[in-house]
Amino acid sequence: MPAVVMLGHNHTYPVCDVLRLFFGPMLQSTEDKLIAGDEHPRIFSILEPGTDGDVRVTTKWNDGEQSFLASRDVPVQAEKKELKRQLYQSLAALTGHQFPWGSLTGIRPTQVAAESLRATGSQAGARQDLISTWFVSPEKADLAVETALAEERVLTGAPPGAAMVYLGVPFCPSRCAYCSFIAQDAMRQPDRLAPYVDAVLHETDLLFAKLKNALPISAVYVGGGTPTSLPPDLLERLLQGVLTNLPLLPGAELTIEAGRPDTITAEKLTIIRAAGAGRLCINPQTFHDRTLERIGRQHNSAQTREACYLAREMGFPSLNMDLIAGLSGETPEDFLQSLQETLDLGPDSITLHSLAMKRSSRLDQASRERGEHPGLPNPAFEEGLAAARKRLDQAGFKPYYLYRQKDVVGGLENTGYARPGHESIYNVGMMSDRRSIIGLGSGAMSKLVSGSRVERVPNLKDIAEYIRRSSEMAMRKINLFIG
Ligand code: SF4
Repeated sequence: MPAVVMLGHNHTYPVCDVLRLFFGPMLQSTEDKLIAGDEHPRIFSILEPGTDGDVRVTTKWNDGEQSFLASRDVPVQAEKKELKRQLYQSLAALTGHQFPWGSLTGIRPTQVAAESLRATGSQAGARQDLISTWFVSPEKADLAVETALAEERVLTGAPPGAAMVYLGVPFCPSRCAYCSFIAQDAMRQPDRLAPYVDAVLHETDLLFAKLKNALPISAVYVGGGTPTSLPPDLLERLLQGVLTNLPLLPGAELTIEAGRPDTITAEKLTIIRAAGAGRLCINPQTFHDRTLERIGRQHNSAQTREACYLAREMGFPSLNMDLIAGLSGETPEDFLQSLQETLDLGPDSITLHSLAMKRSSRLDQASRERGEHPGLPNPAFEEGLAAARKRLDQAGFKPYYLYRQKDVVGGLENTGYARPGHESIYNVGMMSDRRSIIGLGSGAMSKLVSGSRVERVPNLKDIAEYIRRSSEMAMRKINLFIG
């Protein structure tokens, strides 16, 4: 495994990004080198002044060399992009690996596709740009262009002057093996639930007493964790207390995550409907019971089906379901079978996740102990996701938002698909960084978006600290949004 020697620059982040793609997260650094494993072979990444103030970007390795003269008008961003492109090509030549998203790391593919659409003025031009500039596979280039166009359409439903609210409930019935989120086990911490709800209501009261006339709200997403881990009385107090306090625009989108089917009851769904939420998320992740047991979900596929029937009976107009590709022990065929089971339940939107090896999750620790790098290209899962996209298309679902995470199986992506009219504006607004977000609850991130500038303010992650300092969390956001 190689060392990248940086000469004439110190762009450590982009170099790390590309090295991680090929060799996983365990890198060492010295003053001028980044090393994945031992130090051989050596790749030289060189930035030097060209003529007339231009900058020359060069990469040299055993069998090759590439050089590119970047104009002096090109900002540092372009320098880094070229450096990543060249490094990607040299590592692809050394290892033989070609990743589905090529050298695209640390940036949303749909953002790049949208920029290419603007620059080239055509879908074909944007597709070609993704393939030739970034080495994205043709299948993923199509997906990025189609999704970028959909994101743009969906965002028109969320006026730029309005904000969106994220409310986090950091409790789950148990911890999934792939989770690194700070979710607490709700069943073992019943004493914390009521103080947590009180703290969120306090934060909301203080904050919206000031913001009420300043920022209308176009969408609310209650996520976590699993909000339906709360017992019915607390769930009702939380939803009524928060939602009645918000300056909601007419027709505002209200989503509640009821992720774990084993937390769903008719009583809780009645409370959610009464609070006005029309969009409900039930997340099977897989329909294979052996896998569910292995990943610590503590529910089975029969409970998922029952929860979906119940939600439909109770008149939820928009039902979302999430699946994960690449769960340990599953084949692409298993994943496609779960997709068919999901489609048979008639949801309105489906999000296909690729398994991310989140740091400090049980799966990540086990994978590291085995010395694996699950992010290497995985043609079988790429084909599985391509087949899933085709099947969803035939069933009337189109991609409308897309994002990537670090350390994902096969270097793949997460894509939200929806039937027309069921796209979530919250998902697009939040992922695109083009709408302001007001975060409530422990660990929630708030973002103030003005033009291309995004200012972020986090809430405390530790639940006990958050409960103790919820007034301060409200003040942070008052300062952010109205100064
Ligand atoms: S349901 Fe989500 S937040 Fe809760 S443990 Fe599983 S992955 Fe983590």
